[in-house]
Amino acid sequence: MDFFPFTNGELHAEGVPLETIASEVGTPVYVYSQGALTSFFRGWYDAFQGVPHRICYSVKANSSLAVLGLFRSLGSAFDVVSGGELERVLRAGGKAGDVVFSGVGKTDAEINQALDAGILMFNVESEEELERLSEIAAGKGVRAPISVRVNPDVDPQTHPYISTGLKTSKFGIAIARAREVYQRAGALPGIEVRGLDAHIGSQLTSTTPFRDAFQKVGELLEQLRADGHTIRHLDLGGGLGITYKNEVPPTPADYAREVLSVVGHLGVELLFEPGRSLVGNAGVMLTRVLFRKETEAKRFVIVDAGMNDLIRPSLYGAYQEIHAVKQRDDVDARPADVVGPICESGDFLAKDRPVPDVGRGELLAVMSAGAYGFVMASNYNTRPRPPEVMVDGTTWRVVRPRETLDDLVRGEVV
Ligand SMILES: *Cc1c(COP(=O)(O)O)cnc(C)c1O
Repeated sequence: MDFFPFTNGELHAEGVPLETIASEVGTPVYVYSQGALTSFFRGWYDAFQGVPHRICYSVKANSSLAVLGLFRSLGSAFDVVSGGELERVLRAGGKAGDVVFSGVGKTDAEINQALDAGILMFNVESEEELERLSEIAAGKGVRAPISVRVNPDVDPQTHPYISTGLKTSKFGIAIARAREVYQRAGALPGIEVRGLDAHIGSQLTSTTPFRDAFQKVGELLEQLRADGHTIRHLDLGGGLGITYKNEVPPTPADYAREVLSVVGHLGVELLFEPGRSLVGNAGVMLTRVLFRKETEAKRFVIVDAGMNDLIRPSLYGAYQEIHAVKQRDDVDARPADVVGPICESGDFLAKDRPVPDVGRGELLAVMSAGAYGFVMASNYNTRPRPPEVMVDGTTWRVVRPRETLDDLVRGEVV
């Protein structure tokens, strides 16, 4: 089902014309489809029907309380990478017992916060972290439930910035050292071994790297059991890609078939940490054309959203589809850079893209902006971050208002 259809020549989110939202709340603005979020979550959840599993939504992809609350209501658990994200999950009604905590740089304060909350487990990413976790937990008279995140040294064949399972990556512990690390973990007074974890990268569009990695991780799990460890949870991370342009990523059902063929026999609860594939194609960012400018060398369409609002094109050279909200035939499309107001040459939403002759005030929709969009927005150039809107059928509501200039200078002194 298309959650962002052109209906009567106008782009909609479900049953709401995007122009209506932009006119009422202004631009730029992020718009999410509740129907899409629900459908993507159910697709993932149902793909593993019949085996014990938990979908731990990766909060960093989109941490809006409205999104977290919706996933919670659908039965989601959560993967967090900071104390701030843990707090968001709790405020959205999530239970600490459904939270796994990943990340290479957990602070003492975050470890304390997560222990006090009673999370499901820590995904430990270094031997020093394991020691520190044990000290803090033992000091409280408790044991910290853990998985070790292992690095299976598999190339996920994606952008280097989002490849995390290679030997050279800062993430996880080399799989070759894992048995020793588990042995140490088993001997520490403040540690309770519960599982095994891996996450090899993001925006994967083939199942092969997953299969290679999970094969290695599955073999390790059997060795760890033979070594006497109790492994109840196998966390296989996130990373399933989405279509930005013409990629054809595996569906959650395709992915599930592959996964179960490799690790289905292990008799563990499977945990997954999808982020992008649950939210990426459930959101768009709306922006209006401010000016047009044509030089000898280039044609520019200058819009009111910049890299501070949506950084993926600037940071990763990522492609995001852009549509004029009022449907046009593309016969007059000519190459242009769609650029923002930020004082950086790296500030663009699209480069050398065929763009129709859109004029001042015209509304554009940047597609596939639900993941790593608003969460990566900043206040660079003292620009308030955009509002977020949730659409459900023919109704919509602002789930986070636009920041004000007062918000931006709060607490500052001259
Ligand atoms: C970012 C991240 C994810 C989510 O990745 P997606 O590609 O958005 O699915 C899952 N687990 C960990 C540990 C991560 O850092």
